[in-house]
Amino acid sequence: MTREELESRVERVRQELEEASAGRYPIPKLIAVTKTHSAEEILPLAEMGITDIGENRVQELLTKLPELQDRFQIHLIGRLQRNKVKQIVGDVCMIQSVDSEPLAREIHNRALAAGRRMPVLVEISPAGEEQKGGVPFEETEAFLKQIAPLEGIEIRGLMAVMPLTEDQDYLDGLFARTRGLFDRIRDKNLSGIVMEELSMGMSGDYRLAAAHGATMVRVGSAIFGPRG
Ligand SMILES: *Cc1c(COP(=O)(O)O)cnc(C)c1O
Repeated sequence: MTREELESRVERVRQELEEASAGRYPIPKLIAVTKTHSAEEILPLAEMGITDIGENRVQELLTKLPELQDRFQIHLIGRLQRNKVKQIVGDVCMIQSVDSEPLAREIHNRALAAGRRMPVLVEISPAGEEQKGGVPFEETEAFLKQIAPLEGIEIRGLMAVMPLTEDQDYLDGLFARTRGLFDRIRDKNLSGIVMEELSMGMSGDYRLAAAHGATMVRVGSAIFGPRG
């Protein structure tokens, strides 16, 4: 893809996010999902005002890290194995996929050992698709309360991956329900639980996500083209 094409794709996503949030919500931050793409392909995004990127695999991230870490804030968005936490704990700005107590505890331990607190999002499962990971919707608040005392993590909000479907009404309902959960928990002002980020929306559904008040969208193929 030429640089011009890349730039016009980024612009188009930005415009659609602006239209979809329609003054009702702030325009969500665009996180460019850069998995499967080389540092060479990714670096031009910095000049287009992209400040945040998302990667979902530790091994891949580590190989690209030297070229990317000075240019971008890096979010870990994919399933994370406990034994990989220590490899990235110093290099990412946020881990968006925390969905178990042992994982939260490992991040807590490794972050403290590295002299920091790690911002995290709790990944929830809006459609109850167990194989995809994520905390069941009904258990979200209890899970948040369970991990809130871990001082090596800083809970900043929720992350959700919607099911792959063309059914816009169904998706609309799931986004609304997820935003509702986020609002209810935020309004409780629970100790150690900051609800300021709601990461939802990918290439197929970022408009809908923006319309329902996502604060971050994670967009890959709408920027880079379909993954081969
Ligand atoms: C790959 C990925 C995305 C981006 O997917 P696209 O459909 O390419 O925009 C977003 N979130 C997560 C967790 C991902 O793994």
